Amino acid sequence: MSLLRVAVPSPLHRLFDYLPPADLPAESVAGLAPGSRLRVPFGRRDVIGILVAVVDETEVPQDKLKPAKALLEDSPLIPPTMFALCQWAANYYLHPPGEVFPLALPTRLRGDRPLMPLGEPAWQLSTRGLGLADDALKRSPKQALAIEKLRREGPVSTAALSEAGISRAVLKSLADKQLIKTLNLAPKRVAPIGHQGLDLNTEQELAVVAITQALGEFSCSLLQGVTGSGKTEVYLQGIAACLERGQQALVLIPEIGLTPQTLKRFQLRFNATIVSLHSGLADQEREKAWSLAREGLAHIVIGTRSAVFTPLANCGLVVVDEEHDSSYKQQDGFRYSARDVAIKRAQLEECPVVLGSATPSLESLHNAASGRYHQLVLSQRAGGANLPALQAIDVRGQSLRGGLSPPLEQAVGQALAAGGQVLLFLNRRGYAPTLQCHDCGWIAQCTACESRMTVHRRQRRLRCHHCGAAAALPQQCPSCKSRTLLTNGLGTEQAEETLAAQFPNTPIYRVDSDSMANAGAMQALLDTVASGEPCILVGTQMLSKGHHFPRVTLVGVIDADALLFSADFRGEERMAQMITQVAGRAGRSDDPGRVLLQTHHPDHPMLSALMTQNYAEQAKQLLEMRSENGLPPLGYLFMLRCDSADGAAAEQFLHSVRRAAGNPQGITLIGPLPSALPRRAGKFRFQLMVLANSRASLRQIALALVASAESQPRAGDLRWSIDVDATEV
Ligand code: ADP
Ligand code: ZN
Ligand code: ZN
Repeated sequence: MSLLRVAVPSPLHRLFDYLPPADLPAESVAGLAPGSRLRVPFGRRDVIGILVAVVDETEVPQDKLKPAKALLEDSPLIPPTMFALCQWAANYYLHPPGEVFPLALPTRLRGDRPLMPLGEPAWQLSTRGLGLADDALKRSPKQALAIEKLRREGPVSTAALSEAGISRAVLKSLADKQLIKTLNLAPKRVAPIGHQGLDLNTEQELAVVAITQALGEFSCSLLQGVTGSGKTEVYLQGIAACLERGQQALVLIPEIGLTPQTLKRFQLRFNATIVSLHSGLADQEREKAWSLAREGLAHIVIGTRSAVFTPLANCGLVVVDEEHDSSYKQQDGFRYSARDVAIKRAQLEECPVVLGSATPSLESLHNAASGRYHQLVLSQRAGGANLPALQAIDVRGQSLRGGLSPPLEQAVGQALAAGGQVLLFLNRRGYAPTLQCHDCGWIAQCTACESRMTVHRRQRRLRCHHCGAAAALPQQCPSCKSRTLLTNGLGTEQAEETLAAQFPNTPIYRVDSDSMANAGAMQALLDTVASGEPCILVGTQMLSKGHHFPRVTLVGVIDADALLFSADFRGEERMAQMITQVAGRAGRSDDPGRVLLQTHHPDHPMLSALMTQNYAEQAKQLLEMRSENGLPPLGYLFMLRCDSADGAAAEQFLHSVRRAAGNPQGITLIGPLPSALPRRAGKFRFQLMVLANSRASLRQIALALVASAESQPRAGDLRWSIDVDATEV
């Protein structure tokens, strides 16, 4: 007997077996392809699941088996490669499969809606319309015109008809007379055209040749190119070669809203169908883009993290730009790394993948050093510009105005006077990170998190940056009624305000997720900055992402110490990446500019390393340290996390799970311990950290812990999750 094994949206780490739908002929069941949607009963409701396999046997007792209600389509919506990718990802990340497969579908298709046909609504003549006598409509010239047009041109889209001055009312009258009928006009398959690229320098040339020759089979390359070295140009020419083979390219970028330039460069280079997939799309637009990709009609698909699960009919090249960027790792629910999934995907698609960055992750550098990845290097800035020099400012004992020490303030003044632009980096948004009562010491805390509320002065609110809670800015201390409330610490909003007073004749632009909240804001800013007028940009790590500001001659890091001390073992890697990236925003060929870092710890070894070594050298040292401590990428890490409104229950749960796992060899178990943020949105958070000396032993212990966690009784709202290759500890 054939049974259907189905991935059902549920937090359970398993699949569910069903009898085939009653209306499905028995002989067709065995041939059903995985990846189709099924409506199945689950608990007391019906849900949409994905067919994973047709099987002969089940552990479910015969009388408990229920029939699926319906098969939603004859040919699977999730094509074989994407199906295999989802299966791999569920298995690798030990995530419930029913929550992974839907990622290969646009939101609208995760329910039972039918696939929207691609193409446009259009009209054509009916048989009756075809046979219509020439003068039959001479009293309705508009209608005659429409008939004439359709006779001459065949099917015409409703949009084109309306452009030709034929209104919906006219069409309706003709349709009522049964002279014309609707159809769906399929999109045309066009050949993409790539415009002439730039003349490449030798290193770029080598990279493009390597990528071009790699087309047609799986390989992974790390394109390590200093900021502004022309990595994007290399992608563009690699993609041109991919399109020439009649294949599609998939390009992942960290955040589309932040990089309107990237998309524009692709659109300018290719006369081709380019779709972009990002969180700003409406559901219908997303489904259309998805369909164009899946049908092979889109030549280039550009998207953020989740776009890695977009099916492509004929994928020939995968690019992951800024591969070190933390946005590729999903930090809740299904905690996958889009970079790592992209590599697996390229393997399944049998095509090359290119990881590009000026500051590659230690993981990728390690893989390149061990020969698993090809290494492509761009060591020079395109156009011959030099990289700026770094210098520390010891701020101990100095008076700070708006966060600036006198030497930095002076340097800003000089840079502006010389006609340059200035970029000030402060990775803290809002006005101030703390609000305190001067008389009794009260501090504004989030009631739901173990964290302070940030002061947002312009909105007159306190906001929690962890759970989003907001409250009105108090006028007096809730504890002692004092009216003397002080803000402590500096955020971008305050820096903007003080800078405006310090440099009254210079425009100041703040760049953070508050000021850049709407879609066009970043583009507008980039246009303004491109005009070249002296200005000060002050902002968070948003400023370190992707853009080039050739007229910036001074970069100031207002609080380097905030980056220096991190509880996370990746803190130093992140700092080196962030500083290198911010520094790389500046400079042009005649003036490479300089970078000043304010610190209370000018002798910190990490800072000296930044001053004296380039990123590659630092990364090498960091890798040695990781190796000594058995940490990733030289050890294998995962976290078992648990949260609950009942803290004791969460901790107890992890204790029990840990006990059941025993003490396997080659494994270090640390915890359970409170998470770095011990309470968020009203939930207490605990974690168990697991380090293994091999992927195989990690896998074994992870499976044991998942089995143990699933068998524990779960009280109340307690939730647990697994984070394989965790990037935050
Ligand atoms: P990256 O992606 O490495 O940061 P980009 O591709 O954005 O660098 O290139 C930086 C700048 O250099 C861009 O303005 C680009 O047009 C220019 N550029 C890139 N390659 C060349 C080249 N071969 N010749 C001249 N200019 C180039
Ligand atoms: Zn008080
Ligand atoms: Zn909060």
